[in-house]
Amino acid sequence: MDLTRTDIYLDGAWVAPSCGQTIAVHNPATEEVLASVPAGTATDVDRAVTAARTAFPGWADTTPAQRSAALDRLHTALVARAATAAETVALELGTPLKVATRIQVGLPLTVLRSYVELAARPPAEETVGNSLVVREPIGVVGAITPWNYPLHQVMAKLAPALAAGCTVVLKPSELTPLTAYLLFDAIHEAGFPPGVVNLVPGTGVEVGEAIAAHPDVDMVSFTGSTATGRRISHLAADRIARVALELGGKSANVILDDADLPTAVKVGVGNAFLNSGQTCTAWTRMVVHRDRYDEALNLVAKAADGYRTGDPFTPDTRLGPLVSAAQRDRVTGHVTRALTDGGRLIAGGPDAVLPERGWFVAPTVLADVDPGSALAQEEVFGPVLAVIPVDDEEAAVAVANDSRYGLAGAVWSADEQRAVRVARRIRTGAVDINGAPFNPLAPFGGYKQSGLGRELGRYGLDEFLQTKAIQR
Ligand code: NAD
Repeated sequence: MDLTRTDIYLDGAWVAPSCGQTIAVHNPATEEVLASVPAGTATDVDRAVTAARTAFPGWADTTPAQRSAALDRLHTALVARAATAAETVALELGTPLKVATRIQVGLPLTVLRSYVELAARPPAEETVGNSLVVREPIGVVGAITPWNYPLHQVMAKLAPALAAGCTVVLKPSELTPLTAYLLFDAIHEAGFPPGVVNLVPGTGVEVGEAIAAHPDVDMVSFTGSTATGRRISHLAADRIARVALELGGKSANVILDDADLPTAVKVGVGNAFLNSGQTCTAWTRMVVHRDRYDEALNLVAKAADGYRTGDPFTPDTRLGPLVSAAQRDRVTGHVTRALTDGGRLIAGGPDAVLPERGWFVAPTVLADVDPGSALAQEEVFGPVLAVIPVDDEEAAVAVANDSRYGLAGAVWSADEQRAVRVARRIRTGAVDINGAPFNPLAPFGGYKQSGLGRELGRYGLDEFLQTKAIQR
């Protein structure tokens, strides 16, 4: 299929961008150019923000039922494109098709459906003494998203922003913009009023900064690296614009001495390697009680061995390539450094056999990792798991909290109350106990340098509202 796109989406129509330059999109499994998209400019951002500003009063004035119905039409249009969306993610990001179908596309459809419901019943107005407290949409939202879950990261912003009555200008990652184009085909079919949703592809430096600095953007909702989040915060601070940040992570998987070890290890390794480790919530530090350590390492090595690396379209592939050559080099650099820092290789590593073409990294596990070393502190964003032994529960909590990040985590114990006690002590936005399932209505976001604000469910909707007190 020809995936090249030449237009941007403004004011309810596909239109020519202001300049003729393009950005090549690669297939990371073959290293070949797959398609190209326009390189948007600050002029395009200005046009998009003007469209969104003009559309805002009308969209903010629609009823909850009207907004819910529009999101429902989008759901129908996206379901019709679900198979193509999964193939597009597999092509531009390299996620194995099965995982792309179930998670990369299945999850955003679930999130969108949740906002069809939530849009219909927004937070109620409240009377406090002589005040009427009302919630109003914040205005024009600039959404800037990463490449690792190219549909989900967009949906986690777009659906609640639209449900709240905001209008949106989206800049998807320049590495994976094709899925966003497919979403905008669905948005066009769903028939939103002109200007309510706009798409400007391009680089972070040109389009991203223009959005973050634009005087008419009321809020910037960003998902990506902590370094970029810091830059966006500085730009938005100049005009006191609201910022929501979903940033990096280095989450700990705490396996206590009474855990069901085979399950904890199997689920833990699967979590660390999901999407080739390019997942912000990945449990990349496995913290294991020393009494169970050797047993755990055997299980980890066996589990890692079961991850077949290869073509995303081959049914038994469990790990695709990394998104780019730069990302592959960054990840292999981390592994080399971890080995010199004293980590012991128990799976994968620099000498593992890989497909001849494509930006692959073997599923890699290092044991005896020093909790203060770079591998235990820095986000690697590849299929690399660090295993850290600890002497007791206190030490496990201390290691889990020894991080500038605080996005996710896990605790395993046969005693659920004990696990909850430990979970409460971990300074992180989410903790899963004994492999509990993902909850799309639960708040999602980070402590510390993992971010500001929450996405998903009613917490995600709240981010796009502001509060007014009317005294009578
Ligand atoms: P990135 O920060 O490089 O890029 C994210 C987006 O920001 C892209 O669209 C990029 O073009 C844009 N951007 C880059 N520089 C910019 C600038 N100066 N001004 C404005 N925009 C700019 O991150 P990435 O490499 O695409 O994604 C990987 C990172 O995202 C990882 O650190 C990962 O942990 C994080 N992430 C976090 C979450 C979460 O929910 N917490 C989810 C997914 C990814």
